Amino acid sequence: MAKAPAKKKKGLDLKKMKKRLLDERADIEKLEEMTEGDRKPVELDQQTQGRLARMDAMQLHEMALEQERRREVEIQRIDAALKRMEEGEYGYCLSCGDEISPKRLDTDPAAPLCVDCASG
Ligand SMILES: [Zn+2]
Repeated sequence: MAKAPAKKKKGLDLKKMKKRLLDERADIEKLEEMTEGDRKPVELDQQTQGRLARMDAMQLHEMALEQERRREVEIQRIDAALKRMEEGEYGYCLSCGDEISPKRLDTDPAAPLCVDCASG
């Protein structure tokens, strides 16, 4: 019989969750490198590109920037979850302090709120 820490919850494998968070973070960073070129300022070449093509290029650029913003938010969520893990607060709702259901954490390991607070 192993001694369980006071705050250990059923069905929550912190080691596994931490690995998932780190894997997800690594994936996002990889994507960020791959799409770096898309986020460079659009070069408009009057000679080789028509008006529509320029609009496409600018739209793609905007989309790339938007995706980059989302990735940054996601990385912040993951970092915050990892920090909560270190502090032994992981798995508890930031708003009401209740336990976040393991099922919810399985779907979104970085979830900072319980279902009630997230939907309310
Ligand atoms: Zn809550």
